[in-house]
Amino acid sequence: MNAVIDTNAAAANDLPLTGHLIGGRPVTDAHRLQEVWNPSIGEVGSRVAIAGKATVEAAIAAAQAAFPAWRATPPAKRARVMFRFRDLLEQNADRICELIGREHGKIAHDAAGELQRGIENVEFACAAPQLLKSEYSRNVGPGIDSWSEFQPLGVVAGITPFNFPAMVPLWMFPLAIVCGNTFVLKPSERDPGAALYVAELLHEAGLPPGVLNVVNGDKEAVDTLLTDPRVQAVSFVGSTPIAEYVYATATAHGKRCQALGGAKNHAIVMPDADLDNAVSSLIGAAFGSSGERCMALSVAVAVGEDTGDRLVAALAKAMETLKVGAFDDGSNDFGPVITPQHRDKVVGFIDSAQRQGARIVVDGRGPKVDGCAHGFYVGGTLIDGVRPDMDSYRSEIFGPVLQVMRVGTMQEAMDLIDAHEYGNGTCIYTRDGEAARYFSDHIKVGMVGINVPLPVPVAYHSFGGWKRSLFGDLSAYGPDGVRFYTRRKTITQRWPSAGVREGSQFSMPAFG
Ligand code: NAD
Repeated sequence: MNAVIDTNAAAANDLPLTGHLIGGRPVTDAHRLQEVWNPSIGEVGSRVAIAGKATVEAAIAAAQAAFPAWRATPPAKRARVMFRFRDLLEQNADRICELIGREHGKIAHDAAGELQRGIENVEFACAAPQLLKSEYSRNVGPGIDSWSEFQPLGVVAGITPFNFPAMVPLWMFPLAIVCGNTFVLKPSERDPGAALYVAELLHEAGLPPGVLNVVNGDKEAVDTLLTDPRVQAVSFVGSTPIAEYVYATATAHGKRCQALGGAKNHAIVMPDADLDNAVSSLIGAAFGSSGERCMALSVAVAVGEDTGDRLVAALAKAMETLKVGAFDDGSNDFGPVITPQHRDKVVGFIDSAQRQGARIVVDGRGPKVDGCAHGFYVGGTLIDGVRPDMDSYRSEIFGPVLQVMRVGTMQEAMDLIDAHEYGNGTCIYTRDGEAARYFSDHIKVGMVGINVPLPVPVAYHSFGGWKRSLFGDLSAYGPDGVRFYTRRKTITQRWPSAGVREGSQFSMPAFG
């Protein structure tokens, strides 16, 4: 099986074609082809087949057909497939990171970190027999036992963003599948190769055909998944406007939905913070992956008289050695952004901050990258004097841009964060335990770091923001993931003794 590279097209000296995986077989049906960039060099590297409605319906039908047998497969056997899958992910890590780097632009060391986080979700899924244990109460009434069990939903869909082309799909389908569901994944059409390859590895690990299907596509594919009555639940990760649309549409069609959206993550730097530590970790969290992370720290809020000046000076100094460049040079700190349109958008936000009165301390517009003159690069950018009314503050930039704001007290910093529409992640740098505790207790944000810049929960916790960073009640992966991908059923049972017959009872039964 090899849906990643269409060898016929390659032999014809054409661009490689990324297709779909339906019913365990590669499929290249498309109502159009879309170019996929290699952003490091600014050239089209491959094409992706964009599925029409009929192709998505074929994937849903394959998942529906595979469901009864997969549901009946014991959880321990399902988990065994995941154990083999985990090993295959490790054995093929270089190939996966290459695919991520070529299409996304992420440097190999960053792609390896992404994959490791994805593998940890597979490891969590390996515990399926334990995760799916039911809750049992004996003798809730005379001779009556009761238990709750967690049953799979059926066909579940996942729609994922470009910025973690392997990890975010791995947040979803391993757990959904070990819980007994069958799955249709719609990865980002901007970098579809890694997800498709990873899905092929799961089949190599022994997954029966149809349990996991991958369709590449755009709005038409997504809309088909959101409205088809055979799809029971939808997990979405992407930007907030699309998350809101997906949540509204899926729930209006009777589906369970969790839709994770965008972010604007603030770091508070207190006057007592260890500034060296704050600066070095802020830089990694702001510029790693070109700032294209939903947990990237994009705003530093300096508290107190001279904290801002000290912070800006130290950041500017540390940024002198930042190295931006192609994905395949491991000495680079971060790579290009995903498309030329996205580069222009990021640069547009820097322009607007300057126009609206902020000071560009380090200017990353138009960096020179040797050997990659046409790549989609923005260098690390530091902006000081940012105000809450500026466009660059109100919107998610999703680029290597760190903005600094200054306030007088920690409470003012917290009010600023709470007033923002997003509430994904945040961090405080301080040596004061009491301040840190107050901050984590009261801040209206879903994931909080204390001297930890990227507080991305490990696989056995769950990932989710507050406010307009998450639509739905349950976060992604971990314990919330198990609840999202299963439906509780509670059974109450009595085996009457031979010869004992109960009369009709018209009052509400109370067993105890
Ligand atoms: P996006 O919203 O453009 O795309 C996400 C998915 O939605 C893709 O599969 C895409 O094909 C599909 N899509 C796009 N437009 C659509 C439309 N009009 N109708 C239906 N489907 C559509 O997001 P992106 O640019 O790929 O990813 C970046 C965004 O994702 C950022 O906002 C980032 O913060 C967010 N993100 C959030 C999290 C989180 O956990 N909260 C994690 C990663 C990324």
